[in-house]
Amino acid sequence: MSCVNVNNSLTEWFYTLNGCRQGDVTSPTAFSIVINDLIKELKYTGIGVDVDNAIVCALAYADDIALIADSPENLQKLLTVTYNWCNKWRFMINPSKSNVVHYRNPPKVQTNFIFTLGAGGPQIQITDSYKYLGVFLDQYLTFQKTTDVLSNAAGRALGGMINKYKSMGEMGYRTYSKLFDSLVCPVMDYGSSIWGGKSYDSLNSVFNRAQRFFTGVHRLCPIDGFTGDMAWPSNRIRWKLEALRLLNRLVKTDKDRLVYKIFRWDMTCHENSNKSNFAARVKQILCETNLKPLYKNVNVVNIDHVKECLIDTWESEWKTAVTNKSKLKLYKSIKHKFEVEKYLLLNIDKYEKSLLSQLRYGILPLRTETGRYVNERPEERICTLCNTNNIENAEHFLFDCPMYDNYRLEFMHKAQNCINDWEKLSQSECLEQLFEVMPRALGKYVKEIYLYHRSQIYK
Ligand SMILES: [Zn+2]
Repeated sequence: MSCVNVNNSLTEWFYTLNGCRQGDVTSPTAFSIVINDLIKELKYTGIGVDVDNAIVCALAYADDIALIADSPENLQKLLTVTYNWCNKWRFMINPSKSNVVHYRNPPKVQTNFIFTLGAGGPQIQITDSYKYLGVFLDQYLTFQKTTDVLSNAAGRALGGMINKYKSMGEMGYRTYSKLFDSLVCPVMDYGSSIWGGKSYDSLNSVFNRAQRFFTGVHRLCPIDGFTGDMAWPSNRIRWKLEALRLLNRLVKTDKDRLVYKIFRWDMTCHENSNKSNFAARVKQILCETNLKPLYKNVNVVNIDHVKECLIDTWESEWKTAVTNKSKLKLYKSIKHKFEVEKYLLLNIDKYEKSLLSQLRYGILPLRTETGRYVNERPEERICTLCNTNNIENAEHFLFDCPMYDNYRLEFMHKAQNCINDWEKLSQSECLEQLFEVMPRALGKYVKEIYLYHRSQIYK
Protein backbone atom coordinates (compact mmCIF):
# COMPACT_ATOMS: atom_id res chain seq x y z
CA MET A 1 0.00 0.00 0.00
CA SER A 2 1.21 3.53 -0.76
CA CYS A 3 0.20 7.10 -0.17
CA VAL A 4 1.69 10.50 -0.89
CA ASN A 5 2.89 12.95 1.75
CA VAL A 6 2.03 16.57 0.84
CA ASN A 7 2.81 19.31 3.41
CA ASN A 8 2.68 16.77 6.24
CA SER A 9 -0.80 15.51 5.27
CA LEU A 10 -1.22 12.04 3.81
CA THR A 11 -3.41 11.22 0.82
CA GLU A 12 -5.68 8.17 0.67
CA TRP A 13 -3.92 4.80 0.62
CA PHE A 14 -3.75 3.01 -2.74
CA TYR A 15 -2.33 -0.24 -4.08
CA THR A 16 1.01 -0.29 -5.98
CA LEU A 17 1.48 -3.55 -7.78
CA ASN A 18 4.49 -2.61 -9.90
CA GLY A 19 7.21 0.04 -10.13
CA CYS A 20 9.30 1.36 -7.28
CA ARG A 21 9.43 4.54 -5.25
CA GLN A 22 11.33 7.48 -6.64
CA GLY A 23 14.44 8.22 -4.57
CA ASP A 24 14.26 4.94 -2.69
CA VAL A 25 17.73 3.47 -2.07
CA THR A 26 16.58 0.04 -3.19
CA SER A 27 15.13 1.34 -6.48
CA PRO A 28 18.35 1.14 -8.60
CA THR A 29 19.07 -2.38 -7.33
CA ALA A 30 15.48 -3.48 -7.89
CA PHE A 31 15.57 -2.00 -11.39
CA SER A 32 18.87 -3.76 -12.15
CA ILE A 33 17.41 -7.09 -11.08
CA VAL A 34 14.43 -6.58 -13.38
CA ILE A 35 16.39 -5.29 -16.38
CA ASN A 36 18.98 -8.07 -16.03
CA ASP A 37 16.61 -10.47 -17.84
CA LEU A 38 16.54 -8.19 -20.86
CA ILE A 39 20.34 -7.98 -20.97
CA LYS A 40 20.48 -11.79 -20.76
CA GLU A 41 18.08 -12.13 -23.68
CA LEU A 42 20.06 -9.61 -25.73
CA LYS A 43 23.30 -11.49 -25.01
CA TYR A 44 21.67 -14.78 -25.98
CA THR A 45 21.32 -13.51 -29.58
CA GLY A 46 25.14 -13.52 -29.91
CA ILE A 47 24.91 -10.14 -31.66
CA GLY A 48 27.21 -7.27 -30.68
CA VAL A 49 30.73 -5.97 -31.02
CA ASP A 50 33.60 -8.30 -30.28
CA VAL A 51 35.76 -6.78 -27.56
CA ASP A 52 38.61 -9.17 -26.84
CA ASN A 53 36.25 -12.19 -27.06
CA ALA A 54 33.57 -10.49 -24.98
CA ILE A 55 30.53 -9.67 -27.13
CA VAL A 56 29.15 -6.27 -26.11
CA CYS A 57 25.55 -5.72 -27.24
CA ALA A 58 24.22 -3.19 -24.75
CA LEU A 59 25.31 -0.48 -22.36
CA ALA A 60 22.82 0.05 -19.57
CA TYR A 61 22.90 2.92 -17.10
CA ALA A 62 19.81 3.14 -14.89
CA ASP A 63 16.85 3.33 -17.28
CA ASP A 64 19.02 4.37 -20.23
CA ILE A 65 19.92 1.54 -22.59
CA ALA A 66 22.17 1.74 -25.66
CA LEU A 67 22.11 -1.21 -28.05
CA ILE A 68 25.25 -1.90 -30.10
CA ALA A 69 25.49 -4.01 -33.25
CA ASP A 70 27.84 -4.40 -36.20
CA SER A 71 25.14 -4.17 -38.91
CA PRO A 72 21.71 -2.54 -39.36
CA GLU A 73 20.02 -5.96 -39.63
CA ASN A 74 21.56 -7.08 -36.35
CA LEU A 75 20.61 -3.85 -34.62
CA GLN A 76 17.02 -4.38 -35.77
CA LYS A 77 17.12 -7.88 -34.24
CA LEU A 78 18.23 -6.40 -30.88
CA LEU A 79 15.47 -3.79 -31.13
CA THR A 80 12.89 -6.50 -31.72
CA VAL A 81 14.14 -8.53 -28.75
CA THR A 82 13.96 -5.41 -26.57
CA TYR A 83 10.49 -4.50 -27.81
CA ASN A 84 9.12 -7.99 -27.20
CA TRP A 85 10.62 -8.15 -23.73
CA CYS A 86 9.15 -4.75 -22.85
CA ASN A 87 5.71 -5.82 -24.09
CA LYS A 88 5.87 -8.96 -22.01
CA TRP A 89 6.74 -7.08 -18.83
CA ARG A 90 4.59 -4.00 -19.55
CA PHE A 91 7.49 -1.59 -19.93
CA MET A 92 6.95 1.45 -22.15
CA ILE A 93 9.58 2.63 -24.63
CA ASN A 94 9.31 6.21 -25.82
CA PRO A 95 10.00 6.00 -29.60
CA SER A 96 10.52 9.78 -29.85
CA LYS A 97 13.32 9.55 -27.29
CA SER A 98 14.96 6.60 -29.04
CA ASN A 99 17.34 7.12 -31.93
CA VAL A 100 19.81 5.27 -34.09
CA VAL A 101 23.32 6.57 -34.83
CA HIS A 102 25.45 5.04 -37.55
CA TYR A 103 29.09 5.30 -36.39
CA ARG A 104 31.52 5.21 -39.29
CA ASN A 105 34.49 6.89 -40.95
CA PRO A 106 33.74 10.04 -43.03
CA PRO A 107 33.64 8.82 -46.68
CA LYS A 108 31.09 6.13 -45.86
CA VAL A 109 27.44 7.18 -46.36
CA GLN A 110 24.79 6.79 -43.70
CA THR A 111 22.69 3.63 -43.83
CA ASN A 112 19.17 3.92 -45.33
CA PHE A 113 17.86 0.96 -43.35
CA ILE A 114 14.46 1.60 -41.76
CA PHE A 115 14.50 0.75 -38.06
CA THR A 116 11.26 0.03 -36.24
CA LEU A 117 10.31 -0.67 -32.68
CA GLY A 118 9.23 -4.30 -33.07
CA ALA A 119 7.53 -5.78 -36.17
CA GLY A 120 5.27 -3.11 -37.72
CA GLY A 121 5.87 -0.80 -34.74
CA PRO A 122 6.76 2.92 -34.88
CA GLN A 123 9.83 3.89 -36.89
CA ILE A 124 12.99 4.98 -35.10
CA GLN A 125 14.81 7.93 -36.65
CA ILE A 126 18.49 7.94 -37.56
CA THR A 127 20.33 10.96 -36.12
CA ASP A 128 23.90 12.20 -36.39
CA SER A 129 24.72 12.11 -32.69
CA TYR A 130 23.69 10.60 -29.40
CA LYS A 131 24.01 12.19 -25.99
CA TYR A 132 25.36 9.73 -23.44
CA LEU A 133 25.87 11.00 -19.87
CA GLY A 134 26.14 14.57 -21.12
CA VAL A 135 28.62 13.93 -23.93
CA PHE A 136 27.50 14.01 -27.57
CA LEU A 137 28.93 11.03 -29.44
CA ASP A 138 28.61 12.17 -33.07
CA GLN A 139 28.59 9.83 -36.06
CA TYR A 140 32.29 10.33 -36.86
CA LEU A 141 33.34 10.65 -33.19
CA THR A 142 34.87 14.08 -33.80
CA PHE A 143 33.34 15.50 -30.56
CA GLN A 144 32.70 18.72 -32.46
CA LYS A 145 29.11 18.92 -31.22
CA THR A 146 30.10 18.27 -27.60
CA THR A 147 32.73 20.99 -27.66
CA ASP A 148 30.36 23.43 -29.40
CA VAL A 149 27.70 22.86 -26.74
CA LEU A 150 30.31 23.15 -23.99
CA SER A 151 31.72 26.37 -25.40
CA ASN A 152 28.25 27.95 -25.39
CA ALA A 153 27.75 26.94 -21.78
CA ALA A 154 31.27 28.07 -20.83
CA GLY A 155 30.66 31.39 -22.62
CA ARG A 156 27.56 31.93 -20.47
CA ALA A 157 29.49 31.03 -17.30
CA LEU A 158 32.21 33.50 -18.25
CA GLY A 159 29.58 36.16 -19.01
CA GLY A 160 28.21 35.72 -15.48
CA MET A 161 31.69 36.00 -14.06
CA ILE A 162 32.44 39.17 -16.03
CA ASN A 163 29.16 40.72 -14.83
CA LYS A 164 30.21 39.95 -11.27
CA TYR A 165 33.56 41.65 -11.94
CA LYS A 166 31.79 44.73 -13.35
CA SER A 167 29.35 44.96 -10.43
CA MET A 168 32.24 44.76 -7.97
CA GLY A 169 34.15 47.44 -9.84
CA GLU A 170 37.45 45.63 -9.63
CA MET A 171 38.89 42.17 -8.98
CA GLY A 172 42.43 40.98 -8.38
CA TYR A 173 44.32 38.49 -10.54
CA ARG A 174 44.13 35.72 -7.95
CA THR A 175 40.39 36.07 -7.38
CA TYR A 176 39.76 36.27 -11.11
CA SER A 177 41.88 33.17 -11.79
CA LYS A 178 40.22 31.26 -8.97
CA LEU A 179 36.75 32.15 -10.22
CA PHE A 180 37.70 31.13 -13.76
CA ASP A 181 39.10 27.82 -12.48
CA SER A 182 36.01 27.01 -10.49
CA LEU A 183 33.20 28.45 -12.66
CA VAL A 184 34.34 28.19 -16.27
CA CYS A 185 36.98 25.41 -16.42
CA PRO A 186 34.71 22.65 -15.09
CA VAL A 187 32.26 23.46 -17.91
CA MET A 188 34.99 23.61 -20.58
CA ASP A 189 36.61 20.40 -19.35
CA TYR A 190 33.48 18.22 -19.06
CA GLY A 191 34.31 14.87 -20.67
CA SER A 192 37.73 16.11 -21.79
CA SER A 193 39.28 12.89 -20.49
CA ILE A 194 37.59 11.27 -23.48
CA TRP A 195 37.93 13.94 -26.17
CA GLY A 196 41.02 15.73 -24.78
CA GLY A 197 44.29 15.84 -26.69
CA LYS A 198 43.04 17.80 -29.67
CA SER A 199 42.47 21.56 -29.72
CA TYR A 200 39.01 23.04 -30.18
CA ASP A 201 38.73 26.62 -31.47
CA SER A 202 35.31 27.32 -29.96
CA LEU A 203 36.58 26.51 -26.45
CA ASN A 204 39.87 28.31 -26.99
CA SER A 205 37.99 31.47 -27.89
CA VAL A 206 36.23 31.40 -24.49
CA PHE A 207 39.62 30.95 -22.83
CA ASN A 208 41.12 33.89 -24.75
CA ARG A 209 38.09 36.08 -24.10
CA ALA A 210 38.57 35.61 -20.34
CA GLN A 211 42.21 36.71 -20.58
CA ARG A 212 41.47 39.62 -22.94
CA PHE A 213 38.86 40.93 -20.54
CA PHE A 214 41.23 40.86 -17.58
CA THR A 215 44.17 42.47 -19.38
CA GLY A 216 41.80 45.03 -20.96
CA VAL A 217 42.63 44.51 -24.64
CA HIS A 218 40.52 44.26 -27.82
CA ARG A 219 39.84 41.33 -30.14
CA LEU A 220 42.75 42.03 -32.49
CA CYS A 221 45.35 41.84 -29.75
CA PRO A 222 48.07 39.22 -30.41
CA ILE A 223 47.13 36.20 -28.27
CA ASP A 224 50.73 35.36 -27.34
CA GLY A 225 51.02 38.70 -25.53
CA PHE A 226 48.35 38.24 -22.87
CA THR A 227 48.99 34.47 -22.77
CA GLY A 228 52.51 35.07 -21.49
CA ASP A 229 51.43 37.74 -19.01
CA MET A 230 48.48 35.81 -17.56
CA ALA A 231 50.47 32.53 -17.52
CA TRP A 232 47.34 30.35 -17.24
CA PRO A 233 47.94 26.71 -18.24
CA SER A 234 46.36 26.33 -21.69
CA ASN A 235 43.17 24.40 -22.43
CA ARG A 236 45.15 21.72 -24.20
CA ILE A 237 47.36 21.13 -21.19
CA ARG A 238 44.38 20.75 -18.87
CA TRP A 239 42.65 18.38 -21.30
CA LYS A 240 45.74 16.26 -21.83
CA LEU A 241 46.12 15.87 -18.08
CA GLU A 242 42.46 14.86 -17.82
CA ALA A 243 43.03 12.15 -20.45
CA LEU A 244 46.01 10.86 -18.47
CA ARG A 245 43.98 10.84 -15.24
CA LEU A 246 41.47 8.58 -16.98
CA LEU A 247 44.35 6.43 -18.24
CA ASN A 248 45.57 6.03 -14.64
CA ARG A 249 42.11 4.97 -13.50
CA LEU A 250 41.87 2.44 -16.33
CA VAL A 251 45.33 1.02 -15.65
CA LYS A 252 44.35 0.40 -12.03
CA THR A 253 41.01 -1.21 -12.94
CA ASP A 254 40.40 -4.89 -12.26
CA LYS A 255 41.51 -6.85 -15.36
CA ASP A 256 38.21 -8.78 -15.53
CA ARG A 257 36.06 -5.71 -15.87
CA LEU A 258 34.57 -4.85 -19.22
CA VAL A 259 35.85 -1.27 -19.08
CA TYR A 260 39.42 -2.58 -18.79
CA LYS A 261 38.89 -4.98 -21.69
CA ILE A 262 37.53 -2.15 -23.82
CA PHE A 263 40.58 -0.05 -22.95
CA ARG A 264 42.99 -2.83 -24.00
CA TRP A 265 40.92 -3.46 -27.13
CA ASP A 266 41.13 0.26 -27.95
CA MET A 267 44.93 0.02 -27.66
CA THR A 268 45.03 -3.02 -29.96
CA CYS A 269 42.80 -1.26 -32.52
CA HIS A 270 45.22 1.65 -32.56
CA GLU A 271 48.29 -0.60 -32.92
CA ASN A 272 46.76 -2.70 -35.69
CA SER A 273 44.98 -0.12 -37.79
CA ASN A 274 46.35 3.20 -36.56
CA LYS A 275 42.90 4.38 -35.41
CA SER A 276 42.77 7.88 -33.94
CA ASN A 277 41.05 6.82 -30.71
CA PHE A 278 41.58 7.32 -26.98
CA ALA A 279 44.71 5.11 -27.03
CA ALA A 280 46.16 7.17 -29.87
CA ARG A 281 45.60 10.42 -27.98
CA VAL A 282 47.12 9.08 -24.77
CA LYS A 283 50.10 7.64 -26.66
CA GLN A 284 50.66 10.96 -28.40
CA ILE A 285 50.71 12.82 -25.06
CA LEU A 286 53.17 10.33 -23.55
CA CYS A 287 55.41 10.51 -26.65
CA GLU A 288 55.46 14.31 -26.40
CA THR A 289 56.70 14.01 -22.82
CA ASN A 290 59.21 11.19 -23.50
CA LEU A 291 57.16 8.69 -21.51
CA LYS A 292 56.26 6.31 -24.32
CA PRO A 293 57.43 3.19 -22.36
CA LEU A 294 54.67 3.89 -19.82
CA TYR A 295 52.13 3.47 -22.60
CA LYS A 296 53.70 0.25 -23.85
CA ASN A 297 53.86 -1.32 -20.39
CA VAL A 298 50.45 0.07 -19.36
CA ASN A 299 51.77 1.80 -16.25
CA VAL A 300 50.49 4.58 -14.03
CA VAL A 301 51.63 8.05 -15.12
CA ASN A 302 52.98 10.70 -12.73
CA ILE A 303 50.61 13.55 -13.55
CA ASP A 304 52.71 16.29 -11.91
CA HIS A 305 55.76 15.30 -13.93
CA VAL A 306 53.79 15.31 -17.19
CA LYS A 307 52.32 18.67 -16.30
CA GLU A 308 55.80 20.15 -15.90
CA CYS A 309 56.92 18.69 -19.24
CA LEU A 310 53.82 19.97 -21.04
CA ILE A 311 54.26 23.45 -19.59
CA ASP A 312 57.95 23.47 -20.64
CA THR A 313 57.07 22.52 -24.22
CA TRP A 314 54.30 25.08 -24.33
CA GLU A 315 56.62 27.76 -22.99
CA SER A 316 59.15 27.18 -25.76
CA GLU A 317 56.35 27.19 -28.37
CA TRP A 318 55.17 30.49 -26.91
CA LYS A 319 58.68 31.94 -27.12
CA THR A 320 58.96 31.04 -30.81
CA ALA A 321 55.52 32.52 -31.50
CA VAL A 322 56.46 35.78 -29.76
CA THR A 323 59.70 36.00 -31.77
CA ASN A 324 57.81 35.70 -35.05
CA LYS A 325 55.16 38.37 -34.41
CA SER A 326 56.08 41.87 -35.61
CA LYS A 327 53.55 43.52 -33.25
CA LEU A 328 55.29 41.87 -30.31
CA LYS A 329 58.71 43.38 -31.05
CA LEU A 330 58.72 45.51 -27.92
CA TYR A 331 57.11 42.74 -25.87
CA LYS A 332 59.85 40.31 -26.87
CA SER A 333 62.52 42.71 -25.63
CA ILE A 334 60.92 43.23 -22.20
CA LYS A 335 59.33 39.83 -21.45
CA HIS A 336 61.69 36.95 -20.77
CA LYS A 337 59.96 34.57 -18.40
CA PHE A 338 56.67 32.80 -18.86
CA GLU A 339 55.07 33.91 -15.61
CA VAL A 340 52.33 36.21 -14.40
CA GLU A 341 53.36 39.83 -14.86
CA LYS A 342 53.61 42.09 -11.82
CA TYR A 343 51.32 44.87 -13.13
CA LEU A 344 48.51 42.29 -13.36
CA LEU A 345 49.03 41.16 -9.78
CA LEU A 346 48.64 44.65 -8.32
CA ASN A 347 45.18 46.12 -8.18
CA ILE A 348 45.96 48.81 -10.72
CA ASP A 349 43.11 50.97 -12.00
CA LYS A 350 41.31 49.17 -14.86
CA TYR A 351 42.00 51.87 -17.44
CA GLU A 352 45.68 52.13 -16.51
CA LYS A 353 46.02 48.35 -16.63
CA SER A 354 44.47 48.30 -20.08
CA LEU A 355 46.87 51.01 -21.35
CA LEU A 356 49.87 49.12 -19.96
CA SER A 357 48.69 45.93 -21.70
CA GLN A 358 48.16 47.74 -24.99
CA LEU A 359 51.61 49.27 -24.69
CA ARG A 360 53.23 45.87 -24.12
CA TYR A 361 51.37 44.08 -26.92
CA GLY A 362 52.03 46.80 -29.49
CA ILE A 363 48.39 47.83 -29.92
CA LEU A 364 48.30 51.23 -28.18
CA PRO A 365 46.92 53.60 -30.86
CA LEU A 366 50.21 55.34 -31.59
CA ARG A 367 51.14 55.92 -35.20
CA THR A 368 53.22 52.70 -35.44
CA GLU A 369 49.93 50.89 -34.84
CA THR A 370 47.33 53.19 -36.47
CA GLY A 371 49.55 53.46 -39.56
CA ARG A 372 48.89 49.75 -40.17
CA TYR A 373 45.18 50.44 -40.66
CA VAL A 374 45.83 52.95 -43.47
CA ASN A 375 48.68 50.99 -45.04
CA GLU A 376 51.41 53.48 -44.23
CA ARG A 377 54.93 52.18 -44.68
CA PRO A 378 56.71 51.74 -41.31
CA GLU A 379 59.13 54.62 -42.03
CA GLU A 380 56.20 56.97 -42.77
CA ARG A 381 54.69 56.61 -39.31
CA ILE A 382 56.27 59.84 -37.98
CA CYS A 383 55.10 61.51 -34.74
CA THR A 384 52.76 64.37 -35.72
CA LEU A 385 52.88 66.06 -32.33
CA CYS A 386 56.53 67.08 -32.31
CA ASN A 387 59.01 68.17 -34.96
CA THR A 388 61.76 65.64 -34.19
CA ASN A 389 60.84 63.65 -37.31
CA ASN A 390 60.97 60.44 -35.29
CA ILE A 391 58.70 57.44 -35.70
CA GLU A 392 55.93 57.46 -33.12
CA ASN A 393 56.52 54.13 -31.39
CA ALA A 394 56.30 53.21 -27.70
CA GLU A 395 59.88 54.28 -27.00
CA HIS A 396 59.40 57.71 -28.59
CA PHE A 397 56.11 58.12 -26.74
CA LEU A 398 57.51 57.18 -23.32
CA PHE A 399 61.05 58.51 -23.37
CA ASP A 400 61.67 61.02 -26.18
CA CYS A 401 58.72 63.02 -27.50
CA PRO A 402 59.17 66.60 -26.19
CA MET A 403 55.36 67.05 -26.11
CA TYR A 404 55.21 65.20 -22.81
CA ASP A 405 58.26 66.78 -21.19
CA ASN A 406 56.15 68.32 -18.42
CA TYR A 407 54.83 64.96 -17.28
CA ARG A 408 58.06 63.12 -17.96
CA LEU A 409 60.41 65.19 -15.81
CA GLU A 410 58.94 64.19 -12.48
CA PHE A 411 58.36 60.55 -13.47
CA MET A 412 61.88 60.00 -14.79
CA HIS A 413 63.31 61.61 -11.68
CA LYS A 414 61.47 59.07 -9.58
CA ALA A 415 62.64 56.22 -11.85
CA GLN A 416 66.23 57.37 -11.51
CA ASN A 417 65.93 57.11 -7.73
CA CYS A 418 64.23 53.74 -7.68
CA ILE A 419 66.07 51.84 -10.40
CA ASN A 420 69.76 50.95 -10.19
CA ASP A 421 72.07 52.14 -12.99
CA TRP A 422 69.18 53.87 -14.74
CA GLU A 423 71.56 55.88 -16.93
CA LYS A 424 73.36 52.81 -18.25
CA LEU A 425 70.20 50.99 -19.34
CA SER A 426 68.86 50.87 -22.90
CA GLN A 427 65.28 52.08 -23.43
CA SER A 428 63.85 48.56 -23.53
CA GLU A 429 65.80 47.67 -20.39
CA CYS A 430 64.42 50.81 -18.73
CA LEU A 431 60.89 49.82 -19.67
CA GLU A 432 61.39 46.27 -18.41
CA GLN A 433 62.62 47.68 -15.08
CA LEU A 434 59.71 50.13 -14.88
CA PHE A 435 57.25 47.25 -15.28
CA GLU A 436 59.18 45.27 -12.68
CA VAL A 437 59.93 47.91 -10.03
CA MET A 438 57.27 50.62 -10.33
CA PRO A 439 54.30 49.37 -12.43
CA ARG A 440 51.87 51.55 -10.46
CA ALA A 441 53.69 54.81 -11.18
CA LEU A 442 54.22 53.72 -14.79
CA GLY A 443 50.47 53.16 -15.17
CA LYS A 444 49.74 56.68 -13.91
CA TYR A 445 52.40 58.22 -16.17
CA VAL A 446 51.18 56.37 -19.29
CA LYS A 447 47.59 57.42 -18.54
CA GLU A 448 48.60 61.08 -18.19
CA ILE A 449 50.60 61.25 -21.40
CA TYR A 450 48.13 59.12 -23.34
CA LEU A 451 45.19 61.37 -22.40
CA TYR A 452 47.30 64.39 -23.38
CA HIS A 453 48.21 62.63 -26.66
CA ARG A 454 44.52 62.11 -27.44
CA SER A 455 43.58 65.66 -26.55
CA GLN A 456 46.25 66.90 -29.00
CA ILE A 457 45.42 64.44 -31.80
CA TYR A 458 41.67 65.22 -31.73
CA LYS A 459 42.10 68.97 -31.17
ZN1 LIG B 1 56.86 63.16 -30.82
